[in-house]
Amino acid sequence: MAQQADSIASNGIYRSCPLCGNDNTDIKPSLYSMDPWILKKCARCRLVYLENPPPYEDLHETYAWEKTSNQVAQEKKKKESALRRGVRVLERYKDRLIRRDKILTVVKKYFPVGPVIDIGCGGGAVMARLDHKYTPFGVEISKHLAEMAKKIAKSRGGRVFCGSAPVGLDTFEKDFFTAAIMSAYLEHESAPRDVLQKTLRIMRPGAHLVIKVPNYGCLNRIVMGQKWCGFRYPDHVNYWTPKTLIKIIRDTGFQIVQFNIWDRFPTSDNMWLIARKPD
Ligand SMILES: [Zn+2]
Repeated sequence: MAQQADSIASNGIYRSCPLCGNDNTDIKPSLYSMDPWILKKCARCRLVYLENPPPYEDLHETYAWEKTSNQVAQEKKKKESALRRGVRVLERYKDRLIRRDKILTVVKKYFPVGPVIDIGCGGGAVMARLDHKYTPFGVEISKHLAEMAKKIAKSRGGRVFCGSAPVGLDTFEKDFFTAAIMSAYLEHESAPRDVLQKTLRIMRPGAHLVIKVPNYGCLNRIVMGQKWCGFRYPDHVNYWTPKTLIKIIRDTGFQIVQFNIWDRFPTSDNMWLIARKPD
């Protein structure tokens, strides 16, 4: 089976479980798969993941986030009722308010002054909201979004690497960052262990990492099934639950500082975790 790890599927590249490394080739695809994208639930650690994610080269433009997220939004709009549309607008407004408060509250509490890296920084929306006492740096695979983020980072003494995170993180010095952000990123990364280990290397001892990801264990996913907003093909390649998220954070050498019931409340589609590089 090992040779299959390098084989290229008709769509995407085969991978074993990104959390525990188990080869799940013989396991039946999840009912949430959507042809040609194959979702598997790992027989060993129970992580749900895309077995054939697109290669990084395709994320520069073909499957770039700004394009696929627009397509998903258009398709959803076509299908939904007027009532549902109204509810969605209210939800989005509420989410924006909460998200805005949450990220800034976390930054204020855990981030000392200094260089901060936003991994999967998109167009730089989060870095633009950071206080000017922080120097923003970023990594972003979409060419179009990276160009937008570069302007923000450059004007404040930072920089943005355009490319995959495993390559981008190697361009920074060891123990350089006083804090790191992964907001709506870890669900997109086909090599999450590698990226977390590389992030640990470039963070100062004692520095904090804030993570926000969709919660596959949330009530909405259980009720909505295939229609859950967290399913994105092929954008989302890892479907984390509180248990699998804790495992990958600890396995890669971080300490968990905050992950209470309010950070992973089952009625929310997302969860938040604060980790720390040990001294
Ligand atoms: Zn596994």
